[in-house]
Amino acid sequence: MRGWAWPLVFLAAVAFGFGTGLRDRPAGPRCLRCGAPSDTIGRVRFLLPDGTDRVFCSIPCARAAGIPEGARVRVTDEATGQEVDADAAFFVESEAVSVAHNRTRIHAFARTTDAAAHLEEHRGRWVPNPFRR
Ligand SMILES: [Zn+2]
Repeated sequence: MRGWAWPLVFLAAVAFGFGTGLRDRPAGPRCLRCGAPSDTIGRVRFLLPDGTDRVFCSIPCARAAGIPEGARVRVTDEATGQEVDADAAFFVESEAVSVAHNRTRIHAFARTTDAAAHLEEHRGRWVPNPFRR
């Protein structure tokens, strides 16, 4: 390759790098408290009486934000990824991390059998609903 071609190769590499970086940036909703992606397994959603919602990446973020008056709390069932009412969910604290960036160790499950299996596998213990008012 001739000498003058190298700067072009360099520019192309930089442009490609930027392009990939933009594409790799996670899309989708972000946690209202910490800004992390909130479409993960630890997601918590407050359904407000006015029909809007507030989405968080994890139980600790949602708790720290505080539950708005009259809001319904929805957590994500770790076994299926489906949302479930926090009041109807089962919670386990274990050695497994559910949300990596803030090292959340509380896990929510819709079915007691899934919660018990997790508890058994990851040396967990039952914890009360963190959103009980
Ligand atoms: Zn968060």
